Amino acid sequence: MKLIQNYINGKFLNSLNDEFIENFNPATGELIASIPRSSNKDIQLAVNACRSNDNWHKISITKRAEWLEKIANELENRYEEIALMESKDTGKPISLARNVDASRSVYNFRFFANLVNEIHQPEFKMNDAINRVLNKPLGIAGLITPWNLPLYLLSWKVAPALLMGNCVIAKPSELTPLTANLLAEVIDKIGLPKGVFNLIHGYGSECGQALVEHQEIKLISFTGGTETGKIVAKTAAPMFKKISLELGGKNATIILKDAEFEKHIDQIVKSAFLNQGQVCLCGSRILVQDSIYEKFVEIFRLRVSQMKIGNPLDEDTELGSLISLRHKETVMNYIAMAIEEGGNVIYGGKEPILPETFSNGAFIEPTIITDLSHKSKAATEEIFGPVVTIHPFSEIHEAIKIANITNYGLSASIWTKDVQSGENIAKELDTGIVWINCWLHRDLRTPFGGMKDSGIGREGGLYSVEFFSEMQNICTFLG
Ligand code: NDP
Repeated sequence: MKLIQNYINGKFLNSLNDEFIENFNPATGELIASIPRSSNKDIQLAVNACRSNDNWHKISITKRAEWLEKIANELENRYEEIALMESKDTGKPISLARNVDASRSVYNFRFFANLVNEIHQPEFKMNDAINRVLNKPLGIAGLITPWNLPLYLLSWKVAPALLMGNCVIAKPSELTPLTANLLAEVIDKIGLPKGVFNLIHGYGSECGQALVEHQEIKLISFTGGTETGKIVAKTAAPMFKKISLELGGKNATIILKDAEFEKHIDQIVKSAFLNQGQVCLCGSRILVQDSIYEKFVEIFRLRVSQMKIGNPLDEDTELGSLISLRHKETVMNYIAMAIEEGGNVIYGGKEPILPETFSNGAFIEPTIITDLSHKSKAATEEIFGPVVTIHPFSEIHEAIKIANITNYGLSASIWTKDVQSGENIAKELDTGIVWINCWLHRDLRTPFGGMKDSGIGREGGLYSVEFFSEMQNICTFLG
């Protein structure tokens, strides 16, 4: 079992109250680590550490980009270790942990290191004056991340926050502390100046809340559930903090009658079940034009029935365990609710039969539900598990209406041979991202974020540069 500590001012420390939280592998139930149960006192220590560093914001952005590159290189050296840790901490398949989590975590640091070449200070000339726009750091950035893509999402925030000259206090989910700790080890090893990066472990309602409440932390970047996002927004608003909220989703996958869905079936299945459906962008509602409905359901069901579920460390496993037994219960309750609401479980819906080692694991079969009203709770609330509902529609305007019916507005995908029609539909959808004939195809320069209850703000490329800095216009009179 690994004993994990906070990382504050260049030192690994227990929490000041010396309390701990146990951390389990959700696939086996094995105790794998203990982490500090931090409080507002540890947050204050981290704030003091940030305050004591008076140099980070003064060094050039190019030098800061070089530090990001060093972090990327060192993470890359520990690539396999990241994948293994992420798989054990979350229960996700090792192939996914390798190809998505480990790869993207390295790439996020490298991407923001290279972005330095794209950051130019705009100038606006007047007849008698010149305006120069600066991007100044805000001071301390508070970064709060969930458990589904632990290091991937943490690195997405840490890299631009540091690039723009902020000091960082990060708070990962207490369910998945391992790779955040690995990042602290990497940062310690490369000798990043003390106090620039600080990591606090513990419960969201305790140290997470204290982070958001702290007056001196001027920016909060939060990724997590919509209900927690409301608490964060309410706490931060009276202090006029800059906030970015990346929240939940109930994303529609729209299949038009001309779609080459047999060709794309692997992608469509992946969009529903990647990471056991625990990706905020997963297409958990599939809307299918009625003339191809029966055929689509048959082919989709067949492909899902072939998915290999089980030992996350097996190379060919496609579905691992959910994050916890508690979350498994929530998802099972949603399946029961869908049945009560008139849904028909045409595949899955149960715990799979697995070898003894995994008998205490949080596994659920990939589950397909049909015959459910698109207005039902199971079809409009975020389940965040391996559960997909399929609904027929006849006209395109109906598909748009159904897609927009939920309170969420994160993403959607449209599958059609007629790309123009796909783009026209996309413009009618109230979501931050729409993919046409693809899913999770990400260019990190583009704005990422949701509409409606899926969040506030956009991050990515120069949008992150803008978010993690404060713009100042200096107007110099030349007359
Ligand atoms: P939660 O909202 O439960 O937690 C997210 C983070 O917030 C955790 O670190 C949590 O700590 C912390 N937290 C909890 N309460 C507070 C508080 N009062 N103040 C500050 N921080 C707090 O989300 P989950 O971890 O369950 O993640 C799943 C959710 O995240 C899903 O809804 C999913 O859609 C969403 N998500 C959104 C993404 C996006 O980009 N839009 C991407 C990925 C996920 P602790 O865990 O210790 O309680």
